[in-house]
Amino acid sequence: MAAHFDTLIVGAGFTGSVIAECLAREGGQRVCIIERRSYVGGLANDFTDAHGVRCHRYGPHIFHTKSQTVWSYLSRFTSWRRYEHRVVANVDGRLMPFPINRDTINSLYGLKLNSAREMKRFLAERSERTNNLRTSEAFVVAKVGRDLYERFFRGYTRKQWGVDASNLDRSVCARIPIRMNRESRYYLDPLQGIPLDGYEALFSRILSHPNVEVQTSEDFEQLPKNISYDHLVYTGPIDRFYGYRHGKLPYRSIATEFKNLPTPDGKLIQATPQINYPSEDVPYTRSVEFRHLTGQQHMSSTIGLEFSFATGEPCYPFPSLESRKIYRRYRRLAAKEHGITFVGRLAQYQYLNMDQVVAQALLAAARIHGKANKSASRDHALKGICQE
Ligand SMILES: Cc1cc2nc3c(=O)[nH]c(=O)nc-3n(C[C@H](O)[C@H](O)[C@H](O)COP(=O)(O)OP(=O)(O)OC[C@H]3O[C@@H](n4cnc5c(N)ncnc54)[C@H](O)[C@@H]3O)c2cc1C
Repeated sequence: MAAHFDTLIVGAGFTGSVIAECLAREGGQRVCIIERRSYVGGLANDFTDAHGVRCHRYGPHIFHTKSQTVWSYLSRFTSWRRYEHRVVANVDGRLMPFPINRDTINSLYGLKLNSAREMKRFLAERSERTNNLRTSEAFVVAKVGRDLYERFFRGYTRKQWGVDASNLDRSVCARIPIRMNRESRYYLDPLQGIPLDGYEALFSRILSHPNVEVQTSEDFEQLPKNISYDHLVYTGPIDRFYGYRHGKLPYRSIATEFKNLPTPDGKLIQATPQINYPSEDVPYTRSVEFRHLTGQQHMSSTIGLEFSFATGEPCYPFPSLESRKIYRRYRRLAAKEHGITFVGRLAQYQYLNMDQVVAQALLAAARIHGKANKSASRDHALKGICQE
């Protein structure tokens, strides 16, 4: 039977799901959202494994934001487990805080640096400046010197990105702060947490509006002919939309090996939620114990060991001059379209945090149903989050 929708949305990750909810509730639209995978949530999906432990499918997903608007919007669908992520790096068998802070330096070199000033002086004495700060290697070496670069960044970057940091855009390592104080939280945003009942429950509530029809295991490329629509929202890979006519956009992919271990006393296995392994002698990049994140009490615990590959699910856009050039060609094609909105991390070929894609989705939905200018200050604040 033929079905007509006001809007068809491709992809049920955060971007597509939030747009679907807003168009249905605020815009009174009839929306169909199709998802290639058998589950919704995209990269943020979580699931309960065969041992009854809730795990994050694509690496640990910690929600963090400065935006009260984004936080309040999602809080309609979930309560939060207050959670602040902490990471340590395993350097020659010793665990120390990461991102690098004063405790990292004191523990690594047996020092007693007592102030931000002492820390800055310590790093300044080691920093090596070059004229060209375009690569991740040059950027880190200029900030912290070669020894810290070799111990914390070199091997990890080679494993995660498949190339040496000397051939990698500086933006990759520039995302990682170096702290002059003893701050050990990974994210510093004022609002941080994990959806109390998990991401799966959060998405099922977002998508529960009666005007939203959800179809999983449905690929846009094989869309049944009987579905028609007035507007298309596309959150999938932009190069695939255009049949790769300007070439394939490169991505790094990850695969997680899940290991369940008995914990009869209910205790956790790792002292911290995430351990990074910068050494190339260890084949994976990090290990994550999910019960730290979820707070789940259980008689066993599941740890995810993360491996990086050049092929597989597109996870991280590979930043380079060449990939930016290819993306710009697709963006020019997209700008000429009428009745299609390209939005989300795959359509924009950009690494974006969850709060950023939610902010973009709220703005996109307002534009589509024509209410964009009714709350200009809210939209201004949301734009700020998108551009961070
Ligand atoms: C390893 C990793 C860890 C991360 N950790 C964090 C974190 O801790 N905190 C944070 O804020 N952010 C984190 N992120 C970023 C976060 O995952 C993204 O911001 C968010 O998931 C993007 O949502 P999206 O809807 O734009 O994309 P996606 O989640 O990728 O959703 C797009 C959906 O479109 C579907 N699709 C694509 N093509 C088609 C098609 N042809 N037909 C039908 N469906 C299609 C896909 O299957 C997918 O489900 C992490 C990212 C990675 C890679």
